[in-house]
Amino acid sequence: MTALETFESLGLSETTLEAIRAKGFEIPSPIQRLTIPVLLANQNDIIGQAQTGTGKTAAFGLPILEQALPASGKVQALILVPTRELALQVTDELLSLRTGKITVSAIYGGASYDEQLRRLKKGIDIVVGTPGRILDHLHRGTLDLSALKWLVLDEADEMLNMGFIDDVDEILSYTPEERRLLLFSATMPRRISDLAQKYMRDVQVLKVEATHLTTDLTDQIYFEVRESDKFDALTRIIDVEPEFYAIVFCRTKVAVDELVNRLLERGYLADGLHGDVSQAQREKILRKFKRRFSNILVATDVAARGIDVNNLTHVINYSLPQDSESYVHRIGRTGRAGNQGTAITFISHSEYRQFLAMRKEVKADIRKEEIPTVHDVIALKKQHILSELEETIETQMFDEYAGMAETILASHTPETALAALLKMSFKNDLDASSYPEIRTFSVDRKGTARIFIAVGRRDGFTPRRIVEMLQRESGLPDAHINDVKIMDEFSFVTIPFEEAEHVTRCLNKGSKHPIAEIARNEKSVRRAAPRRKDGRKGKTSRSKDRAGRRVPRKAADTEFRRKRR
Ligand code: ADP
Ligand code: MG
Repeated sequence: MTALETFESLGLSETTLEAIRAKGFEIPSPIQRLTIPVLLANQNDIIGQAQTGTGKTAAFGLPILEQALPASGKVQALILVPTRELALQVTDELLSLRTGKITVSAIYGGASYDEQLRRLKKGIDIVVGTPGRILDHLHRGTLDLSALKWLVLDEADEMLNMGFIDDVDEILSYTPEERRLLLFSATMPRRISDLAQKYMRDVQVLKVEATHLTTDLTDQIYFEVRESDKFDALTRIIDVEPEFYAIVFCRTKVAVDELVNRLLERGYLADGLHGDVSQAQREKILRKFKRRFSNILVATDVAARGIDVNNLTHVINYSLPQDSESYVHRIGRTGRAGNQGTAITFISHSEYRQFLAMRKEVKADIRKEEIPTVHDVIALKKQHILSELEETIETQMFDEYAGMAETILASHTPETALAALLKMSFKNDLDASSYPEIRTFSVDRKGTARIFIAVGRRDGFTPRRIVEMLQRESGLPDAHINDVKIMDEFSFVTIPFEEAEHVTRCLNKGSKHPIAEIARNEKSVRRAAPRRKDGRKGKTSRSKDRAGRRVPRKAADTEFRRKRR
């Protein structure tokens, strides 16, 4: 690694570097490399352009965190983002990188004013907010931007797409002349350059060019899998491939260590590589892997550089790479020397948006596949046992057991004796219950998800009111809400997949019992619901009779009455 590629070379303080290490980042992403030195040294405005998921938050966040004064009592930085979900994400990211006593807080629509007022009064150094609510506070005189040093327009293209231009315009009029304006965006449509021209002085454009590399040699597939199910999905993939020999990529050191420990606990032969592994240890691990004493190498992108291993059966993206370039680098490790390998990418809800952007950029054919079922895994294991048995029979090298075989068969039937022997050899290997259930979430080809909401006609809802509630709670535009189906006690709506997590989070916010979730299988719920009701014995608690869902109906009702007031 060259000096230019380290965080140390960017001019950040030792305290900040410590926070970065603790967070587990190893090297700066390209946009971080470009922007951090400029933001630390100069005073000009900047436009930063890089694809989604490339670390733009830390790119502006680290210099701001480093230069802001702790507990100054005045808002020094305002970061405008288009949605609540992003407000929370950005706040979390900044908090995780913060050192000292800098306060960071999210101010967004739909949340209580009182609570926000209380925080504003106490003094927030860095506010992350959605334009509408920020403007409300400015109108009410509850947010003072007179000491503002940085105004960041994050995801500026999205913000314009969502029609926030006038709000942003007005917010800018509340900020002092000498503040720095930083604009970050994945794309640069005309309207953004217009905005920049209007408001920015001495602007520097820092752009990370998208790369176009080819990935043709590798078979590429992806699985949609919940973050919490990734581990079990991985074990199934390992178990269906008798020759499994792979690098599994994680994004941070912490994630590498955690995954290695879980694999070892389950009896797999895994080792981990990341920046904290010493050179001597690294060489030892690589030797072991090359000789196949271990067949799973878990690594960060940086640690995997320069590893020269042939004939991998798989490269697994346990979490998405930082950008499409790393994706191409990662999967280029399989399919070498004419060997066709398989690259598997796990995609959780929150990674979906970045994945779509990445896939577009790589222009690769990445197919969706289903995670092998437990049935598949066990069938393959049986096959594997049978072929091993055939091989052993062919060798004819088991004379030392011949006498024993006779003794056993004298007192047991061949079926009993063999089954018992198989059990001795393979223990619980074929036991289906050792594979935890993996829940699929329904995303169709059009990229939409079905949402289950635990309110229905009996709660006074009509399709129109469901749409209104979704808009109010999540800010989702009307045009994105489709196919509303309302039943007596619950409802379904279809929304864009990438909004699903945000919407359910918004609907469930502040309530003890979730009332919305991504539907697994609408049909089974719809079939089950009336049947259960018919067969009800009167005493059954209503909270149990909803197709097994953990949505106590009383709690859901109360929650919504409270919200409707
Ligand atoms: P963007 O705003 O460009 O879409 P984010 O700032 O949301 O991207 O970052 C995406 C993810 O990448 C986050 O989980 C973040 O913690 C992680 N990340 C950012 N910078 C680095 C880095 N240098 N090394 C590893 N992970 C990083
Ligand atoms: Mg971002």
